[in-house]
Amino acid sequence: MIESLALLASSRVTTPLVPIRLPEYGVPVWCKLEYLNPSGSTKDRIARYILSKAVRSGAIAPGDQVVEASSGSTSIAFALASAQLGMKFTAIMPEGVSPERVKIIKAYGAKVELTPADAGIAASIERAQQIANEQGAFWPSQFTNADNAKAHRDETAGEVLCQIPTGRVDMFVSGVGTGGTLVGVTQGLLTAGCQVTPVLARPISSGLLCDIECCSFSKRIPGVVDGMSEIFKSADLPNLIEFQISDDEAIHVTRELIRSGFPIGPSSGLNYLAAVRAYEQHGGDPVCLTVFPDRMERYFSTELFQ
Ligand code: PMP
Repeated sequence: MIESLALLASSRVTTPLVPIRLPEYGVPVWCKLEYLNPSGSTKDRIARYILSKAVRSGAIAPGDQVVEASSGSTSIAFALASAQLGMKFTAIMPEGVSPERVKIIKAYGAKVELTPADAGIAASIERAQQIANEQGAFWPSQFTNADNAKAHRDETAGEVLCQIPTGRVDMFVSGVGTGGTLVGVTQGLLTAGCQVTPVLARPISSGLLCDIECCSFSKRIPGVVDGMSEIFKSADLPNLIEFQISDDEAIHVTRELIRSGFPIGPSSGLNYLAAVRAYEQHGGDPVCLTVFPDRMERYFSTELFQ
């Protein structure tokens, strides 16, 4: 058990933080390259944080079953972490997630169950809860688990504070799936004394704010939800601003960033564009920070590559 925990811990990497100024937009955005985490997304942080805590507390042990609902990135991260810990993982996702995601999860020896697309992520969450109740599986519950945001507060924000040469961050920009990234990084920066303004990047296609029960993932910018999870609703982020971003433009900028050498998925383009808008609206020369959550390979079959 100690060996498998050590293996899990050794998969932690400090992801690079780089300033990117695309010629088309001409302003600098500090981007944390979260796609360089071992499973290809920022969700490795929460999988490692939640599972290692559960193992240390005795809540789970090698051989046990883990189940989680997600749009894909979280499932991939939990599939990898569960493989490292010798646990059995079941991913519950809405139909319509890219087939690449399903293949990656199965490659780690995990199971995949799809819930009806029209019932959204809420149906996946319900099914995960049912498996947890009926089969005694460990359910991290990323939409309600405060450790999701804590992983980003302690790890992601902690790394940024060591890396950023300006010594300050004025705005932190992120799309919201569970809200763990936006809430956790903002809280980490605020706790360290940064006067940071949180900025929510929202695809126009995802509609207006609503509850998680009625949300569905944005079809064109996967991983970003048009509803608000418990983590986000209870966070009370001071001075939160929101930018609605055109899906077409987000996909265009994702392609531009890929051509510039950043192998990212669509939510990274969304984040980058919202950070550019935040920079322009702020005036002066603000330090705008964002994350590139995941890698392009899991989108080969989607419109990004058509
Ligand atoms: N981008 C992608 C590709 C994702 O999968 C997610 C999470 N579903 C996010 C962004 C949003 O991250 P968070 O859950 O921390 O809000």
